[in-house]
Amino acid sequence: MFHTKTLAELSQLLTSGEVSSVELTQAFLQRIKQLDTDLNSFITVTEDQALAQAQAADDTIKAGTAGLLTGIPFAHKDIFCTRDIKTSCGSKMLDNFISPYDATVVEKMSQAGMVMLGKTNMDEFAMGSSNETSYYGPVKNPWNTQSVPGGSSGGSAASVAARLTPAATGTDTGGSIRQPASLCGITGLKPTYGRVSRYGMIAFASSLDQAGPMAQSAEDCALLLNAMAGFDRRDSTSIKKDVPDYTADLNKDLNGLKIGLPKEYFDTGLDAGVAEVIDQAIQQYKDMGAEIIEISLPNTHLAVPVYYVVAPAECSSNLSRFDGVRFGYRCEDPRDLEDLYKRSRGEAFGAEVKRRIMVGTYALSAGYYDAYYLKAQQLRRMISDDFTKAFETVDVIMGPSSPGTAFKIGEKTSDPVSMYLSDIYTIAVNLAGLPGISIPAGFSNNMPVGLQIIANSFEESRLLNVAHQYQQTTEWHRQIPDAFI
Ligand code: GLN
Repeated sequence: MFHTKTLAELSQLLTSGEVSSVELTQAFLQRIKQLDTDLNSFITVTEDQALAQAQAADDTIKAGTAGLLTGIPFAHKDIFCTRDIKTSCGSKMLDNFISPYDATVVEKMSQAGMVMLGKTNMDEFAMGSSNETSYYGPVKNPWNTQSVPGGSSGGSAASVAARLTPAATGTDTGGSIRQPASLCGITGLKPTYGRVSRYGMIAFASSLDQAGPMAQSAEDCALLLNAMAGFDRRDSTSIKKDVPDYTADLNKDLNGLKIGLPKEYFDTGLDAGVAEVIDQAIQQYKDMGAEIIEISLPNTHLAVPVYYVVAPAECSSNLSRFDGVRFGYRCEDPRDLEDLYKRSRGEAFGAEVKRRIMVGTYALSAGYYDAYYLKAQQLRRMISDDFTKAFETVDVIMGPSSPGTAFKIGEKTSDPVSMYLSDIYTIAVNLAGLPGISIPAGFSNNMPVGLQIIANSFEESRLLNVAHQYQQTTEWHRQIPDAFI
């Protein structure tokens, strides 16, 4: 029954010698073998490397030099470069790519003694909200296999929800940690922009991308963030700021905490069942001594349109490196260089990636730059100023993570705009560079609902404290879908 345990609990079992890392790793590998055929949450399972890492972890534990995470299995989203292991980013373009180096996040988690079980499925180049754009096929939601797990970190969210791994990494450019966490009933933290190194994390939109932990509980996310965070000279946007112990404030009481509820987050677009769950969660916080204050983030309606100029613009530039020459897919028998570029990119990128490259290239082209990209950057500042103003009166902001619960596979694939609206409550947080967390808060029509909590820059400790206190008095984060108990 190891799979029902949190990282914090597994850590105790390992140090007390009740279980070895090799046993734990074998148990999770076995679950992946048995249960992932239908879910499709892993692209690559690294059994041999995992068992070798587990053996090394057991030696460290015996030597008495283990840290809290030593010997604990987990998985990486397949966007992180892993040395000598396929790193596909969910794309045919990188289906043949074996990374020659480790991403900083990968390096740090190995240094912490963690055991990588494999690489999780994701939307192609992290573009999507349903995991349906993956070259490796859709991931299913463990709560209902007809439904999507959310995206783009859908494989990470589904594998944690099904307890195929105790935790996983994700990345969040517009909601890709929080929205799938919400749809799969797990806890997912998007740190402040610059808190975690982007080195070796395949770039989608560089001014928005941020890596973070996905796990069962806020306490587990705190332990993982301790290992992931920190300045990295190889990432010029990583911030030189000390990493606190993110577990230190978990037990602070919430008396007098000022919670802002943005009226724009409870508008007509919100599903009634989701609204009810969020109301109950807010009530719970009131009972814990928090004060509720209605606030306004007046530019919320601009977030999705601004994001769909900025993110495609940056991705059109970032993805230009996939040219069929240096690495990745190359078409057969190119006639000349132009044919090589055109066919390699044409054959290896999926429809959503092509749509974004075209939109972005258009928005950046001479004559349109001022009208679209520059304008979007100006509006981005206004969106960010809304938050700055709100945090003058409140400590945290709360609302739903997503406007609905998990939708059916195929339901939104022909309507990109309705797909884009899945991230309506998460995207502004990326545009402002702020930290946000999604925690399980209940169910609507038997599907999980996530509560989103947003804090000011570098206040991850506060977010984790607020989330942990809720999880001390509720059991939502402990729920496991029937088929995976
Ligand atoms: N769903 C959003 C998109 O498609 C966000 C993705 C992400 O955060 N990586 O771009």
